[in-house]
Amino acid sequence: MARQKHNEDDDEDMYTFSEDYRSQQKAKYMSAGNNVRLASHDKTRVAYFHDEGVGNYHYGERHPMKPHRLTLTNHLVLKYGMHDKMEIFQPRRATDDEILNFHSSDYVDFLKRVTPDNADNYEKLFQRFNVGDDCPIFDGIYDFCQRYAGATIEASRKLIANGADICINWSGGLHHAKKSEASGFCYVNDIVLGTLELLRYFPRVLYIDIDIHHGDGVQEAFYSTDRVMTVSFHKYNGDFFPGTGHIDEIGSNLGKYYSLNVPLRDGIDDEAYVWMFKEVIDAVIGHFRPSAIVLQCGADSLGCDRLGCFNLSIRAHGQCVQIVKDYKIPLLVVGGGGYTVRNVARCWTYETSVLTNTTLSEDLPPNEYRDFFKPDYKLHPDLKGRVENQNDRTYLLKVRQRVMEQLRYLDSAPSIQMQEIPPDIQGFLDGEHEQQDAINDSERGKNRRNPTGGRVVHEGEWYENDKDNEGESHDSSWSS
Ligand SMILES: [Zn+2]
Repeated sequence: MARQKHNEDDDEDMYTFSEDYRSQQKAKYMSAGNNVRLASHDKTRVAYFHDEGVGNYHYGERHPMKPHRLTLTNHLVLKYGMHDKMEIFQPRRATDDEILNFHSSDYVDFLKRVTPDNADNYEKLFQRFNVGDDCPIFDGIYDFCQRYAGATIEASRKLIANGADICINWSGGLHHAKKSEASGFCYVNDIVLGTLELLRYFPRVLYIDIDIHHGDGVQEAFYSTDRVMTVSFHKYNGDFFPGTGHIDEIGSNLGKYYSLNVPLRDGIDDEAYVWMFKEVIDAVIGHFRPSAIVLQCGADSLGCDRLGCFNLSIRAHGQCVQIVKDYKIPLLVVGGGGYTVRNVARCWTYETSVLTNTTLSEDLPPNEYRDFFKPDYKLHPDLKGRVENQNDRTYLLKVRQRVMEQLRYLDSAPSIQMQEIPPDIQGFLDGEHEQQDAINDSERGKNRRNPTGGRVVHEGEWYENDKDNEGESHDSSWSS
């Protein structure tokens, strides 16, 4: 599963390293009497994590973040029959201790206690934890976080146990959340939590972010380590949310050169984006040689997004997913932004088909959410050409040049040993029992598997008035 596409000379080395690593872990679990599925390399094994309840939360009527998009996505995935192409898991919720692996206890405590009803009592903490308009307090806020984070953590453990080659959690990808602060509609950073899990076993993790916004929370968390390389493609002009992601943000200390930013301008089209993506990711993988990859597939980089300003089609967005998949490196795929709900559902459904190597009909299958997909009821609506492309060839070549110069400093990825784990990660690695718990939990998740993907959650009380604002146009009052 860890074979690279190019650099033939290096191939064997990397393959061996990664496989050795997994063999050791597998032997450990098997000797402990756990039923670990043996790897089969003739077919890509995909595991899909969907929490039935995660789409039922509501940020507020006018708020652009609609968890219901997750219900829609899951619905299309099932209606297209893709549950036959992968293992479906109903994940468990993340525990407090798991969330505390990254987040501070005072912040987690706040998230657990605050409700819309008692919010007045906590108002003095709102500024400190950056809660307010962008990140409102809504019913079940912490429960929502536990659900999407639990799915990412379980997906990470599935990869560690070699129970799948690719794991998907469309409810994850909340890349802006900070250790002690909500940001950009994100409260708990599931990507950081999942990556910390992966670092227990995988020496080097590559994080790739194709959301239109900079993946600032993930970059910040791993800014000074060389075990995680973060690569973010995003709109940057110094002003666009979250304001970071300048090409000069390259990492610090041990992590110097291990943060990579690809700043883009309004209106980038399919051809330019996919070209840049492939150029950069080919080079990054050649230099960094990751043992696992986390791919954040924020769908606000699509054309016609309510908050975005790129021109990407669903096909081009999915082509980036295909490019990453083709490296055959253990892969965790998560969602992220995406504010034109119908297109988010189309995009992640299409990307599920890319990951499961399934051909989908252009006509959407009959389904009870059909009205969302008016008037064409197609999988690939025309999303191009709404915004003028400000990325000329000279600019793109300059950015590419800067990226290549930075990557030259990586030359060859160091052979990282587990005892060299940076101190901030070492803390939670203490104790073998935790690893055992991880596998037990993972297996418990498997036992709850529902081959039909579970009951489809119907449009409930949260969504009665919710079709008002699935906007056609750019909505500049929101940050993320
Ligand atoms: Zn975004």
